[in-house]
Amino acid sequence: MNARAELSLLAAGVRRIAEWDAEDGLIGYPPARANGWPELVTACRLKAPEAFAAAAALGHASGEDAPTPEGQLDVAHAPAQDLSTAPDLAPPSETPSALAATRPTLPAVRSELGDCQRCKLATSGRTTIVFGEGDPGAELMFVGEGPGFFEDQTGRPFVGKAGELLEKMINAMSLTRAEVYICNVVKCRPPENRNPEPDEIIACRPFLHAQIRAIRPKVVVALGKFAAQVLLDSSEPVSRLRGRWFEYVPSQLAELDSAAVAPVRLMPTFHPAYLLRNPDDKKLCWADLKLVMGELGLPRSAL
Ligand code: SF4
Repeated sequence: MNARAELSLLAAGVRRIAEWDAEDGLIGYPPARANGWPELVTACRLKAPEAFAAAAALGHASGEDAPTPEGQLDVAHAPAQDLSTAPDLAPPSETPSALAATRPTLPAVRSELGDCQRCKLATSGRTTIVFGEGDPGAELMFVGEGPGFFEDQTGRPFVGKAGELLEKMINAMSLTRAEVYICNVVKCRPPENRNPEPDEIIACRPFLHAQIRAIRPKVVVALGKFAAQVLLDSSEPVSRLRGRWFEYVPSQLAELDSAAVAPVRLMPTFHPAYLLRNPDDKKLCWADLKLVMGELGLPRSAL
């Protein structure tokens, strides 16, 4: 087992322990104690046998290995691994969370989402979860804010008036809708098309990150304030972010995979719904999309 697979398996085990503890009513953990290691190993053995077995096979979980004084992994003494040749990870079959995988598959992410009840948008009148659609191997991905009425009815992202405009924009880039991937920050329609609230974004955000990790596009276009701010962890208005290139590095890639995977380039621009209300700004959006076309090497004749 290579280092990435080992880390992924151990992280999945720790997550599983935390989830089970939360189901038992635990709301936090006490600070690490110097003699707490055997207890932790016992808990690991009981609650995450696959992670324990993996660690034991590597000689790290006998119950006799002391943690470092700070209670952290002793990475300085870990054997060197060539991560650049490591295969992409599929989530272990026993692992309950596709989100923990460095590169999940889209079906695994959708399966993990399930009949999601993780935020109040699940019970505020949604008809269906709008996961996203398009080419799972797309080089270009568009991320919007959240489903509206028609999206909620059909289960497809961007199918109303704003969707028609987005499709025109995609076609103007000499692409078809089927050649890109389209999704939103939140997957359920906020009531009355209000803005998604922070707790809803936080609950849904891991699935967006997992979608991007699954697709690994070359470029993500963040449509509007919410997509730009969530993907960049920024509070700047989109009017100041648009037209500039950023690097999007999914958090788990940053930890596990940054040496092996090129970061995704991110271009914020205006949301099509905003452009319908402010058509004078279409030229600014088109200027942003031309930068994207140049980055992707799309035919200049369409410029
Ligand atoms: S918005 Fe996201 S987190 Fe909230 S219920 Fe829908 S799928 Fe779940």
